[in-house]
Amino acid sequence: MRLIFLGPPGAGKGTQAKRLTDKYGIPQLSTGDMLRAAVSAGTEVGIRAKAVMDAGGLVSDDIVNQIVSDRIVEPDCAKGFILDGYPRTVPQAKALAENMQAKSLRLDAVIELKVDEEALIRRIENRVAETIAAGGKVRPDDNPETFRKRMVEYHEKTAPLSQYYSEQGQLVTLDGMAGVDSVTAEIEHVLEKATA
Ligand code: AMP
Repeated sequence: MRLIFLGPPGAGKGTQAKRLTDKYGIPQLSTGDMLRAAVSAGTEVGIRAKAVMDAGGLVSDDIVNQIVSDRIVEPDCAKGFILDGYPRTVPQAKALAENMQAKSLRLDAVIELKVDEEALIRRIENRVAETIAAGGKVRPDDNPETFRKRMVEYHEKTAPLSQYYSEQGQLVTLDGMAGVDSVTAEIEHVLEKATA
């Protein structure tokens, strides 16, 4: 099972991806998590990515394409993977398609979670409050100002992916505002059909 989650920041892609990893035994590949790990580890990629990420911009396509290309051939991806936060631009989607074709891997589904932006801002605020309440560290890009910048980036560069995958006949759009459990149930239904 190889699938892509699309949707703006805060739409619940990560939450849903985590649930599916347990059910299908496939990893969630979050380029955001991978980049944050690179920043923490102080690698060359991390050093190049940090300022862009902190400002809510997008890291260059070359960097993320390479990270994903290397990651999807790891042994834990043998049964599939869930891409969360990648691709984020049409050139990334094209690079992924070439990359998967070269590796003879088939994409099973592209699931887009639709949400309204007011609600997203509330979700981000809740996420920050919950993290602080739990004694955790808030991500530097989880503040309303950077969030707005991330939304602008999303509309300019990532939203066109919906049309791209729709034209390929691969896009399924779900209501991300439904409760977490019902979104999961909808996704499972889509995946059953995709793999039937
Ligand atoms: P996320 O955790 O998916 O919200 O990603 C956090 C940040 O990492 C984004 O705001 C970008 O700066 C960077 N990032 C993550 N994935 C990508 C990607 N596919 N392309 C470019 N930048 C990315």
